[in-house]
Amino acid sequence: MTGTIANPVVAGSRVLTGFSRGAVVSLLDAIETALVVARRDGRVLLVNARARKSLGIELSEYSETNLFTELLQTDAAQVFREIESGKHELRLEVARGDEKFFASVQWIPEPDWVVAQFVRQDEQQRPDPATQITVQELLQEREITYRNLLAAYLKLQEVNRQKTVFLASAAHELKTPLAVIKGYYDLMLAGSLGKLSDKQRDILEESKESCERLVRLVSMFLNYSALESGKLVLQLRENDLRDCLDEVAKRWSEAFQRKGVKLEASFDPSIPNFRFDYQKVQQAAANLLDNALKHTPSGGTVTLHAGPHFWERRVSEVSPIQERRRFRLPRPNSVEVSVADTGPGIPAEHHQEIFEDFVRVDRNTTGMGLGLAIAKRLIQAHRGKIWVEDGQAGGSKFTFLLPMDQS
Ligand code: ADP
Repeated sequence: MTGTIANPVVAGSRVLTGFSRGAVVSLLDAIETALVVARRDGRVLLVNARARKSLGIELSEYSETNLFTELLQTDAAQVFREIESGKHELRLEVARGDEKFFASVQWIPEPDWVVAQFVRQDEQQRPDPATQITVQELLQEREITYRNLLAAYLKLQEVNRQKTVFLASAAHELKTPLAVIKGYYDLMLAGSLGKLSDKQRDILEESKESCERLVRLVSMFLNYSALESGKLVLQLRENDLRDCLDEVAKRWSEAFQRKGVKLEASFDPSIPNFRFDYQKVQQAAANLLDNALKHTPSGGTVTLHAGPHFWERRVSEVSPIQERRRFRLPRPNSVEVSVADTGPGIPAEHHQEIFEDFVRVDRNTTGMGLGLAIAKRLIQAHRGKIWVEDGQAGGSKFTFLLPMDQS
């Protein structure tokens, strides 16, 4: 059979004509996949060598074979229904003797042919040796990835350390000149350098306020870098928390008055003396008051409260022995300190992240996003915890717990 076949053979998008049947058969025989080409009614036109071998079809008998009923074990109408519903390719599972195959069926509209490819199921599942990666190779790859990650992590740590050192030295350099400037403001405002007009006093007071803000910022950097470089050592002493917080409230009262925000402080008299770091707790409370004042509009109120607290740590936070003890607490085991304001509040989705380093939510106020991060480190160093929630009178309420059993 060497005559030119009447029907064109479709290859990709190009229609080839003038090919001898022998040439087409040789071409198809060279393909590794088992291929069967049939007419719309299922009568087989061509079976390539691979298909003859896999499906066990003799050359002499394939023109008698029906693709749909015999090879695909389905009915032609069903196949065309699927194709007409927009399916470009139809996948079937078929059995031939003891063998199972995956068949994929495509319809070529122009000569109106159906082409089916058959792959033995066990062949499909067998991995290609060329792409098979040995366990050894996988382990090596994992080792390399681990080493690269470690190197990147160490590099990041070093860069982070350099940043902390830079921050600390810049802040340190700024500290002395700022102290000098503030000292001169105090001298001038006290009238030691001559009488001031009201206008001059107003301007000087405003400048002093800005200078104080700078001082706070610089000390924030110094504290942060000290905490970052692992220099946080608690000076634990038996102290009175009411005195500690009262001092902070007094230190801030002038700034509150200037802005027209009321500061209400109340401390439960039953709080006993206990061991804590006086300065560090003052710093944590001051950072919360600073924020409360910053975010509360004039006419608002900030409430600072401290009282004894029964702290029932969650199961994961305590050992089983402590857990058994917790219901028999004879007296409060901690102190709760809260700062509530009547400002705009903080959206719940930011309640966690504001305690991270350099995180700022409200871009309309000044700050470095370090105040809460520092407060959190200081409280956690006391084995305490700090969180924020919505305040009852609107605004936000920051609370920290300090355990009273510091050793
Ligand atoms: P900073 O105040 O320097 O920006 P903080 O760590 O103290 O940094 O606070 C982080 C962010 O949390 C602030 O930028 C602000 O958006 C928000 N925040 C803190 N305290 C309050 C508060 N009392 N009311 C509203 N927002 C607050």
